Amino acid sequence: MAIRIDGKVISTEIKDELKAHVAELAAAGKEICLAVIQVGNDKASTVYVSNKKKACEYIGIKSLAYELPEETTTEELLAIIEELNARADVNGILVQLPVPKHIDEEKILLAISPDKDVDGFHPVSVGRLNIGQKGFRSCTPAGVIQLLKRTGIAIDGKECVVIGRSNIVGKPMAAMLLAENGTVTVCHSHTKNLAEVTKRADILVVAIGKPKMITAEYVKEGATVIDVGIHRMDDGKLCGDVDFESVEPIAGAITPVPGGVGPMTIAMLMYNCVASAEMNE
Ligand code: NDP
Repeated sequence: MAIRIDGKVISTEIKDELKAHVAELAAAGKEICLAVIQVGNDKASTVYVSNKKKACEYIGIKSLAYELPEETTTEELLAIIEELNARADVNGILVQLPVPKHIDEEKILLAISPDKDVDGFHPVSVGRLNIGQKGFRSCTPAGVIQLLKRTGIAIDGKECVVIGRSNIVGKPMAAMLLAENGTVTVCHSHTKNLAEVTKRADILVVAIGKPKMITAEYVKEGATVIDVGIHRMDDGKLCGDVDFESVEPIAGAITPVPGGVGPMTIAMLMYNCVASAEMNE
């Protein structure tokens, strides 16, 4: 039976460490502040934003909420970002995605100062990751690295296979595993004989966006399987990209959905906010 990697426990551990650290900074007169901007009232975004605010409260980070109307223009949003870039008391700026279609998302993400880019989406942050410089790391893959490290699963010298090459998960995931000295292969929708490639993996990270696609036939016995996918099924239950029932009996370690990678994303966002205060001292 595989070890279940518990993202709830590990994310709470990280948040508690951050909380203690933030209290020390506060005692030294330093406050940490995250600006969260939401445009329009997409229901899922409202839930994500509210969870981020709750995490800030828990840790002791001040959050500045900008709830802007749907009809906000690119220029209006850019003006707010410029103002926040210039404020010394704001450590992190986050624009909740997706923004409404009429807003130029690329322009918005480029406008956020790379020194406050706590989501790690700015091309400068992506570049810093790829050349091994200090900088913000995309939160979900950074969370995966923490899950592995805190479970005592070594990455150095291991065969790591990532399925998915999106800019927010697959590509930064591959770069982070490489930075940890893994031997990394990235698969995508054009990969031939996917199961042959994934069966080589000691560590298999799955970020495809297809419910329960990865079954036991894609997994080597004893492998660590990290499921980034998250889907709500017709019966209201959540599931991942991995068919947990089929894979768990042969894996060495596995993340469940929910309660695996999911809770790590916000914990790593909080980590980035605290790191921002120190990186930009
Ligand atoms: P994208 O849809 O942007 O990317 C999916 C990737 O999977 C693409 O690179 C695609 O290849 C590849 N792919 C699709 N079908 C196949 C296939 N049959 N065989 C091999 N590769 C395939 O998804 P994201 O990276 O944004 O997200 C992936 C999953 O993770 C989703 O379920 C999402 O909900 C979840 N997620 C969870 C987060 C969390 O906090 N837990 C955060 C972010 C995402 P190609 O490039 O060739 O099209």
